[in-house]
Amino acid sequence: MQPNKRGAGIPASATLTISAKARQMTAAGVDVVNFGVGQPDFPTPPHIVEAAVTALQGGAHGYTPTAGTPAIREAVAANLSKLSAVDYAPTSVFVSNGAKQCLHNLIQVLVDPGDEVVVPSPFWVSYEPIVQLAGGVMKLLPTHLADGFKLTPDQLREAITERTKVLILNSPSNPTGAAYSAAELEALAEVVLAHPHLAVVSDEIYRRLTYDGFTHVSFAGLSPETAARTFVVDGVSKAYAMTGWRIGYAAGPAEVIAAAIRYQDHTTSCASAGSQAAAVAALTGDQTPVATMLKAFTERRAVVLERIAAMDGVSVHPPQGAFYAFCDLQGLGPVGEDDGPFCDNLLAQAHVAAVPGYAFGAPGHVRISFACGMDRLVEGLDRFERFIHENPRNPQR
Ligand code: PMP
Ligand code: GLU
Repeated sequence: MQPNKRGAGIPASATLTISAKARQMTAAGVDVVNFGVGQPDFPTPPHIVEAAVTALQGGAHGYTPTAGTPAIREAVAANLSKLSAVDYAPTSVFVSNGAKQCLHNLIQVLVDPGDEVVVPSPFWVSYEPIVQLAGGVMKLLPTHLADGFKLTPDQLREAITERTKVLILNSPSNPTGAAYSAAELEALAEVVLAHPHLAVVSDEIYRRLTYDGFTHVSFAGLSPETAARTFVVDGVSKAYAMTGWRIGYAAGPAEVIAAAIRYQDHTTSCASAGSQAAAVAALTGDQTPVATMLKAFTERRAVVLERIAAMDGVSVHPPQGAFYAFCDLQGLGPVGEDDGPFCDNLLAQAHVAAVPGYAFGAPGHVRISFACGMDRLVEGLDRFERFIHENPRNPQR
């Protein structure tokens, strides 16, 4: 039995595949340093775990409303209203099994077959399948290390046609760490607002993890006009070390949100009741653990940047947010279309798992996640450096 064309065409997630490979090797006794997956190495803060335990002991065992409990919708609405130029009502919010599902729901109810979705590249691996599963057409707008991996207003203006339905913005970005300032967003907003058929899906899952004093700004926060066009996507996975709890949420104009909720009625229903209680504690409770984790990421980021700067032929743009270093390998020699072999060899020979740039639309790069402990980070960077020295000129072979 074979899957249909749609099923056959769905690629595996490169980020999840690399980390599954690393896990298999570790289970087989190989000492692998995992720079692959974007997942904090910290446990979920205890007060959040306790909130879930209390909820479960108190009987939170059934379905909740599809869009989330009243408590979580209120907590999310209050939280996201701080980012936005408008106050979200709890009915303008829905909760899903991760930000990934929020994105999927939104694209399903915004994009008709043949509609174009504009995405700055490099881009997070799941955007393309999410758009294609809705029948949409990805229109990639290349950005470069020299420009800080940021989309310009001219690029956006030139790309928009009458079929363009959505711009996906991801600030801070996975994989590049690029984050847009208020002025940069204002300049993009001018273009967006000139095209009334265009919505913005603003993936802000890394908004709490920024560096060097960078202040996150939401596209929805610029003005009531941009808020009326924007669907903010966020979640607890990254900043609260809650990847496995599977809670993401989104807010935006009510009719589309209502359609996204109806879509979820027929896919997964609600997110896990215990996880929702945990996420309420994350959003409304003590934020000290976020600051503590951010401090650790900041220290690791400094180490990665210092070590990469000392490696001939490898360059990196300092990430302003998230926990990835997106390294340009092109100084090492010709990379060609596919940098998969570089990462395959890195894993096989040096036992370091990292994600190839082509998975993010940028061959010739490699993404290193520094969400792992400092000891492992240093060990992995030592191995990475040795691997590059031992495989001079052409990183593929
Ligand atoms: N957006 C981006 C840019 C991400 O890196 C991730 C990583 N998982 C997600 C969305 C999805 O997060 P979640 O775990 O909440 O589904
Ligand atoms: N988003 C994270 C990453 O890029 C987690 C894996 C995934 O869902 O893609 O590594």
